[in-house]
Amino acid sequence: MMPFVDLNSQYQRLKPLIASRIQDVIDRADFIMGAEVAALEDRLAAFCGAGHAVGVASGTDALLAALIAEGVGRGDAVLVPALTFTATAEVVVLLGATPVFVDIEPAGCTLDPAALARRLETLPQGLRPRVVIAVDLYGMPADYDAIGAVAARFGCLVLADAAQSFGATYRGRAVGTLAPVTATSFFPAKPLGCYGDGGALLTDDDERARLYRSIRAHGRGDHKYDIVRVGLNARLDTLQAAVLLAKLTVFEDELATRDRLAARYQRALTPLVASGLSLPPQPAGGRSTWAQYSIRHHRRDAIAARLRDRGIPTGVYYPAPMHLQPAYRHFGDGPGSLPVAETVARTTLSLPIHAYLPEDAVDRVAATVAEAIAGG
Ligand SMILES: *Cc1c(COP(=O)(O)O)cnc(C)c1O
Repeated sequence: MMPFVDLNSQYQRLKPLIASRIQDVIDRADFIMGAEVAALEDRLAAFCGAGHAVGVASGTDALLAALIAEGVGRGDAVLVPALTFTATAEVVVLLGATPVFVDIEPAGCTLDPAALARRLETLPQGLRPRVVIAVDLYGMPADYDAIGAVAARFGCLVLADAAQSFGATYRGRAVGTLAPVTATSFFPAKPLGCYGDGGALLTDDDERARLYRSIRAHGRGDHKYDIVRVGLNARLDTLQAAVLLAKLTVFEDELATRDRLAARYQRALTPLVASGLSLPPQPAGGRSTWAQYSIRHHRRDAIAARLRDRGIPTGVYYPAPMHLQPAYRHFGDGPGSLPVAETVARTTLSLPIHAYLPEDAVDRVAATVAEAIAGG
């Protein structure tokens, strides 16, 4: 089986650098909030042009800390696209707020601004709209200009869930600067991943950055045992920051390779559009991280089975939209209520893509997809 994400080839490339960075942390026994965390924060902020980066323990904690900082709680509505990883909705429920699921647009599979406006206009009595979470699904930025305009009309903050898209751009601007607050993840399989859990918040807002630094460290004030709010234990490990500093040296190059491979998939698969295959859009004026290269076809499961038979792994992100998940369906209106998300969940299939995938592997995957579709 070819690897779906090849962390080992990346490690072989970076081994001496990663080893010396990790050894350094161990030699200094500087495990909690060590120098690497601040160094990484500077590099992340510089990479995307955000005023501040605040390292946290995971992408989920980044989302949670962002909502805590806004004081989100009971009676508050947080609008969430129906097709996303669980964490996007989970943090809302953990704070006692209400997730309101919104349909996605069919091309890019990100939050549909028109559906968002309709949902905000018809919120149940007694729910205050507070935050709109836009998710950059598969690494492609959502339509932040349109989403921001709708959110502003209703007095909502836009929180970017950029867990899959750190490194992407939209209309010439970098992820991390597209919304007032951006949360990202360094889960190992993300485009920029560490060797465990990790995440970060990005913002231009000095006051929010200060709040995030307090919330990630138990709500501390200026002194360690001066506790000014209820917070979290959500610091980024120094060892994970050390790994990320090493990986950042090749990140631009890896993003360029992913983009080249995505273009190769696109060329090879375009003839199959006539046979009912949908391809991901090429972002206009921007770049996806291609966290996933996701195609859609009504015979998705048969295509996946054929690929598996030929040693090619695939992924399904995600097999069910949030409003149909057992733990969340009481927040939604049931099957048929968010039809685009439901259709995408039934038809989406992610093909192998990572910076160490050879170009001829892309050709082989594409040829096998063609064979599966022709096979009927
Ligand atoms: C991965 C992911 C998260 C959660 O990140 P963790 O670091 O695993 O906590 C949140 N949202 C989306 C869209 C993700 O893909």
